Amino acid sequence: MTINAYFAAGAERWPEWRGPLERAFAAAGLDVALTPTPPQSPGKVDYIIFAPGGDIEDFRPFTGCKTVLNIWAGVENVVANPTLTQPLCRMVDPGLTEGMVEYVVAHALRHHLGIDAILGRQDGTWRHEAPPLAREQPVAMLGLGALGRACAEALARLNFPVMGWSSTPKDIPTIECHSGDDGLEEVLRRAQIVVTLLPHTPETENLIGAWQLSLLPRGAVLINPGRGALIDDAALISVLDDGRLAHATLDVFRTEPLPADHPFWSHPGVTVTPHIAAETRPETAAPVVAENIRRAEAGEPLLHVVDRSRGY
Ligand code: NAP
Repeated sequence: MTINAYFAAGAERWPEWRGPLERAFAAAGLDVALTPTPPQSPGKVDYIIFAPGGDIEDFRPFTGCKTVLNIWAGVENVVANPTLTQPLCRMVDPGLTEGMVEYVVAHALRHHLGIDAILGRQDGTWRHEAPPLAREQPVAMLGLGALGRACAEALARLNFPVMGWSSTPKDIPTIECHSGDDGLEEVLRRAQIVVTLLPHTPETENLIGAWQLSLLPRGAVLINPGRGALIDDAALISVLDDGRLAHATLDVFRTEPLPADHPFWSHPGVTVTPHIAAETRPETAAPVVAENIRRAEAGEPLLHVVDRSRGY
């Protein structure tokens, strides 16, 4: 029987998603009628392929919808929607993870090896200074989920001593794992490089404020590809100004695009990247959408189901 799927992730995304989705459905042996336009009979839609800011605010008309498949990893803009009663799945896919690992490793190595200083000193002077080794630079990875764990393990493979922090206790062979308030304090006190890969939830909003930043060793750096709301912007600028924090590399912001007059743009201690740490790529993400539809049709457990009570 034909499955009806509504691509409600924005008309501008349809051209790049259509082919990969159709190929993924065929590869999964699914007979799917895929439409990018609001259906005449919303009650007949079986699956919604969704992105916040796309075509749906009110899920109530989709009375037959079995699952909403979010094409983004973050769900903070949809998880509390009171009209959404179906299971919500978020995106975890190899392309997203690879992109995040490359971003985090690149920016960690940039700071660790002092690459900015090297580039700024091409002045004919032969300075023979041994760079530090990764083994001397403790990293705190806040968030040990799909992305945080992959980044933590990649940094550990380079010999960084990696401390991880998560909501629930974890046992990961190459990572020193912590949880709870004491765990956060412990990892921040020791970290030269802090990476924030937490979701935006009521619990994580402003998690990194003045007190938490004051715990960091002088000269530490922060890399935030998680969400802008994790960090108190004013507190961040304050520790950059007083030199406790040597640098902040920020990919995500409370307001995106980051307004042109925001102080982050002009601060010498801040690198702004425009939410490009990890993109959902249709070629790697479409098979995940197809696999979840296949599972739902077969009555098997869905992948990457969002826990509404926890908000991620
Ligand atoms: P995930 O698999 O849901 O992992 C989230 C991690 O955060 C888990 O380890 C979780 O702990 C931990 N956590 C959540 N709330 C916490 C709290 N209150 N205290 C301590 N730890 C907490 O998410 P993911 O796939 O790794 O993605 C993480 C975030 O990255 C996304 O939510 C999104 O905001 C962001 N992201 C950014 C980009 C970009 O391009 N910049 C791209 C994709 C995603 P438990 O393991 O104990 O549950």
